[in-house]
Amino acid sequence: MKTNKDYIEFTDRFSAQNYHPLPVVLTRGKGVWVWDVEGKKYLDMLSGYSALNQGHCHPRIARAMNEQAKRLTLTSRAFHNDTMAPFLEKICTLTGFEKALPMNAGAEAVETAIKVARKWGYTKKKIKDNTAEIIVCENNFHGRTTTVVGFSSEAQYRAGFGPFTPGFKIIPYDDTHALEKAVNKNTVAFMVEPIQGEGGVIVPHDGYLRQCRDICRRHNILLVLDEIQTGLGRTGRLFAYEYEDIRPDILIIGKALSGGFYPVSAIACDDAIMSVIKPGDHGSTFGGNPLASRIGMAALDVIVEENLARRAFETGEWFMAELRKINNPRICEVRGKGLLIGIELNEKARPYCEELMALGVLAKETHDMVVRFAPPLVIGRKELQWALERIHRVLGV
Ligand SMILES: *Cc1c(COP(=O)(O)O)cnc(C)c1O
Repeated sequence: MKTNKDYIEFTDRFSAQNYHPLPVVLTRGKGVWVWDVEGKKYLDMLSGYSALNQGHCHPRIARAMNEQAKRLTLTSRAFHNDTMAPFLEKICTLTGFEKALPMNAGAEAVETAIKVARKWGYTKKKIKDNTAEIIVCENNFHGRTTTVVGFSSEAQYRAGFGPFTPGFKIIPYDDTHALEKAVNKNTVAFMVEPIQGEGGVIVPHDGYLRQCRDICRRHNILLVLDEIQTGLGRTGRLFAYEYEDIRPDILIIGKALSGGFYPVSAIACDDAIMSVIKPGDHGSTFGGNPLASRIGMAALDVIVEENLARRAFETGEWFMAELRKINNPRICEVRGKGLLIGIELNEKARPYCEELMALGVLAKETHDMVVRFAPPLVIGRKELQWALERIHRVLGV
């Protein structure tokens, strides 16, 4: 039998070394559980960075995918297909927006939002050609394309990859004064995450998004929310912005939009904004393909019909309260919303993640000092109790 170690050596022989994964090789998943090649079972507390809100291999999504795979997978957008429209309708119905534009990876949807915002600036706000500015936040994570890492504040994401796309201004997160001050006549958009997931599960103060909404409206700039990680139930609402009773001008979604089966992302906005995109302006061979659309529909149906947002809210509240009971001077803070939870330590988190792994709990450090717990939203208290016993053993004193 091949061991984890065998597969890791095999991987290292052929793979670029662009990740530093925990040393476990997974071969099977079902719901909240995954199994490694040696038959050991683990609770997945990362969920593919929130792409697996519906759990691993959800049977309903698998069925939709299999049926569609036998019928029609790709047309390209050179022709119409009969599954994209019902998929986009579902996105629009759930979000309340009039239009949606489908892409594949999250970073592509971010790029799409940037293009739409810039073109809106030139054609609707009438700013001077090639002067558009988009305000973003320190400690952001919006993906890994060259344009997107160009406005990252993380040195390693940028180092060696320049020169970068101009037109971005970085301000501190959770700081509305900085936003107000950064706006000028060329500003077209403010793009922000409702909670900074990759940045270490940073939760802004209550009212932050509402105040940002207000500032954007007053200055006629678009509020672009990247809900690729926070959206689709993760924080205990379908979208994190619902906590603040606002709507963005452009919403970016991805990850759980496919339940982990396939890369599916999209932006949604009203027609007054989307209509700036004309035939030929933007595209993607796979964006909106029939297979992705069917998977996306099933993934959204599962989130709605299994009440995953409400379940994330209820189990998340309870789980976070339990985590806060852990008494350990190395824990600085337990924070989060719904089932997006971070434990900030006063030392490196990686060794703790390795210890948790040995006990059958898969979690990953983010930003060095934070252990992130973001299990599939289908998780129940029994499984979380199982995890808590192990987390206590590793993090308790
Ligand atoms: C994961 C993520 C992205 C990038 O998505 P990819 O599918 O990896 O390109 C962008 N924004 C946020 C907030 C994310 O969490």
